Amino acid sequence: MQSINPFTGKVICDYKEYSSSEVEKIILKVDQAFHSWKLTSFEQRAIFMKNLQARLLVKKEELAGIIVSEMGKVKREAIGEIEKCASVCGYYAENAESFLKNEPIKTEASEAYISYQPIGTVLAVMPWNFPFWQVFRFLAPALMAGNTGVLKHASNVSGCALAIEQLVSEAGFPENVFRTLLIGSNAVKAVIENPLIKAVTLTGSTPAGRSVASIAGYALKKSVLELGGSDPYLILEDADIETAARLCVTSRLLNAGQSCIGAKRFIIAEVIYDQFKAEFVRLMSEAKFGDPLDPETSIGPLARIDLRDELHQQVVKSVEMGATVLFGGFIPEGSAAFYPPTVLENVVPGMPAYHEELFGPVAVLFRANSEEAIRIANDTVFGLGAGVFTSNIEKGKALAEKGLEAGCVFVNDFVKSDPRLPFGGIKESGYGRELSVVGIREFVNVKTVVVR
Ligand code: NAP
Repeated sequence: MQSINPFTGKVICDYKEYSSSEVEKIILKVDQAFHSWKLTSFEQRAIFMKNLQARLLVKKEELAGIIVSEMGKVKREAIGEIEKCASVCGYYAENAESFLKNEPIKTEASEAYISYQPIGTVLAVMPWNFPFWQVFRFLAPALMAGNTGVLKHASNVSGCALAIEQLVSEAGFPENVFRTLLIGSNAVKAVIENPLIKAVTLTGSTPAGRSVASIAGYALKKSVLELGGSDPYLILEDADIETAARLCVTSRLLNAGQSCIGAKRFIIAEVIYDQFKAEFVRLMSEAKFGDPLDPETSIGPLARIDLRDELHQQVVKSVEMGATVLFGGFIPEGSAAFYPPTVLENVVPGMPAYHEELFGPVAVLFRANSEEAIRIANDTVFGLGAGVFTSNIEKGKALAEKGLEAGCVFVNDFVKSDPRLPFGGIKESGYGRELSVVGIREFVNVKTVVVR
C-alpha cells in the first residue's frame, strides 16, 4: 500500500498490508475492549472525546500536513477539515447522552421504554477525499454510543489512518477501542464475515457500496452506505444570479471538486441562462490551480493520477458525443495530478457527463424551462444533495420537500454537512444517515423494555 504525493508525484511511504491473522488478532482485541467500554458512563466517554477534540486542535497544522501530502487538498481546507472533526467530537460529547436516553412509552404495562444499547465492533470503510472528516463523523457517535470501531481506510491515505489511531490513543481512550486495519479492499469481505464484527458503514463509490452491502446482507449485518452523488442545482429565473453563481462555483471547486455533495449539475432557467453562464464561467476561470501549500492556490491536484485520467476520459467521451467545452477540459503539463476547472454545456442523455458522477472540478450547465428542470434534476441514479436558488422562499421549500429526489436540499446555499443535521442519500447514493441524533442511532440496539 503506497501513499504518493499527487502534487510532487513522489512516494511518501510504502505500508505493509496486515496479514489476515494480524487482522483477526486486532478484531479480537477490539471486541474484548467493547465488553468493558460498553459499561462506561456517558460522562466518562465524554471526557475522552473532549480530549480527542483538544488533541485535534493542538495538532491541526501537523495533521493537515498529512492530508495535503497524501491527497493534495489545499492546506487551508485541510485545516478546516481538522477543525470540523474537533467540532463533531465536541458535539457528540455534549449530546450523546440525551440522544440515547431511555424513552418512556405509554402502554398497559406498568412501565415500558426504549433503551438504546451499543451493539459491538463496527467496521468503517472510508474514502480518501475527506480522510479525517469521513472517519470522525463515524468515530465520534460510534464511540459515544459505547461501540468500538475498526477502520479500513482508502489505500492511498494510510498515513491519515494511522494518525487517527494514534490520536485516539493520545486522547486516553482505553486500548483497542478504536483500531486501524491496513488492508486492501479484497480483505474487507473476511472482516465483515468475522463474527465479532457487528455492522459496517461504508463511505465511497456506488460499486464499493454494492459489494459491501451484499456481503453484509448475506452475513445479516446492518450496513450504512454513503455513496456517490451528482447533485443538481436549480437556478430559477428569480434567483440572485451573482450569489447563485458564486456559491455554485464554490461548491463545485471545493476539495478540487472531489466531494460527494459537490454541486455538479446546474439547471438554469432559460431567461437567465446566458447571464448565469457568463458569470459562472468567469468565476471558474479565475480559480488558480497549483501547489496545495501555497495560500494563493484555489484548487490543488486531484488525489491520484488515475482518478484524474478517468475524469478526463469522461469529459473527452462527452465531447466526442457532442458536448461543448466552455472552459478547461485538458490535462495540464507536468507530473502533478492537476485538472483545470472545466465547464460543459450541450450535455444530453447517453453522455458520461450526463449520467456519471464527475469527481473533480467539472461542471455541467443545462438550459431548461421550469417543467424540464425538475425532470433533468431527478434524471439520475443518485440522490444525495441538491440545491435551489430562488427569491421565492415558499417555492424553494416546495421544490426542496416535494420536487427534488435527494437526502438533503439547501435553498439559496450549497449543501454542507453539519454535525447537527442528518446526512445521507437515497437511490444509488446509499441508505442510512450519519450525524445528528439520527446518525448515532444507526448502530445501536433499539431495545424495548417492558415491566409488568
Ligand atoms: P472507493 O473507491 O469506493 O473507495 C472507498 C473505500 O472503499 C476505500 O477504503 C476502498 O479501499 C474501499 N473499497 C473500494 N472497493 C471496495 C470493494 N469492492 N469492497 C470493499 N471495499 C472497497 O471510493 P473513493 O474513490 O475512495 O471515494 C470517492 C467516492 O466516494 C465518490 O463516489 C464519492 O462520491 C464517494 N463519497 C461519498 C460520500 C458520502 O457521504 N455520500 C462522502 C465522500 C465520498 P481501497 O482504497 O483499498 O480501494
